[in-house]
Amino acid sequence: MTTPPKDTGFEAQPYYGICTFGRRPHTRELDGVDVAIVGVPYDGATSYRSGTRFGPRAIREQSLLLWGYNNALSVAPFKALKVIDYGDVDVVPVDVLATHAAIETEVSKIIQEGSKVITLGGDHSIALPLLRAHARKYGRMAVIHFDAHPDTWDTEFGEQKYSHGTPFRRAIEEKLIDTSAYIQIGIRGPTSGAQDYQDALELGARMITIDEAMRLGLGGILNEIRQRVGNKPVYITLDIDSIDPAFAPGTGTPEVGGFSSYQMLQILRGLKGLNLVGGDLVEVSPPFDHSNITAILAANLIFEFLSLMAVNRAS
Ligand code: MN
Ligand code: MN
Repeated sequence: MTTPPKDTGFEAQPYYGICTFGRRPHTRELDGVDVAIVGVPYDGATSYRSGTRFGPRAIREQSLLLWGYNNALSVAPFKALKVIDYGDVDVVPVDVLATHAAIETEVSKIIQEGSKVITLGGDHSIALPLLRAHARKYGRMAVIHFDAHPDTWDTEFGEQKYSHGTPFRRAIEEKLIDTSAYIQIGIRGPTSGAQDYQDALELGARMITIDEAMRLGLGGILNEIRQRVGNKPVYITLDIDSIDPAFAPGTGTPEVGGFSSYQMLQILRGLKGLNLVGGDLVEVSPPFDHSNITAILAANLIFEFLSLMAVNRAS
């Protein structure tokens, strides 16, 4: 019987070992940590089909395919930054308020220690406690919001104020968002009426529908984002349904006619130099995924978030 050779790279293979995001150490020790990856396996605020509670685990698993060097941005984020996998927030599947409180507490603690946080969702309701935690440190946030839906509904199912369709209205009401630096991108699909988009505009959002995005092209979209955000500390919230279901079928409320995966990569890379202080990627629902393509895309988009933070560190 032969012994496997040591240090030949087999331990770096994507199928080897226990899953953490990008093979980062799983720890809650925050000393010197630049970025903590945090999972929120929660889908209790979903209006249609659930399953995003399985998102963080699926994204972590596919993140093992990230080899480390971002050729488009010429940066190795795991080398430029100390990145850890903090693990998951303790969520309460049947209690949205308790879950939101747990997210706010846990993420505030990390941010106050001086680390940035990138969150793997979970449904989009979690953006509200995440913005609360960030606003405590940074004040009202500039927000780049990729989504098929404006998520600025007032209530769902009667009186429910906290669902994945309402977080940005609540965040604006709570003065967590600087609406002069708030931009929604990729909005599309049928709604119950014209008022749904009108509501978002009246709250102060700049909305780039998918039609406008395709008219503007990459350069135009990036110009609009830069004009809106400037050099303010900015938070990116990316609902995977902003991408076409042909590229990201594993999500709860798919809308046809969205960005391709390549277009989204280009947009994110175009944000190089913005003062990115945190972000989330939400609504990945593995039970509806095919061949893991949604989770693979999500892992790569998180890699772009990290690369943007690393570029800033390097320059
Ligand atoms: Mn959406
Ligand atoms: Mn959303």
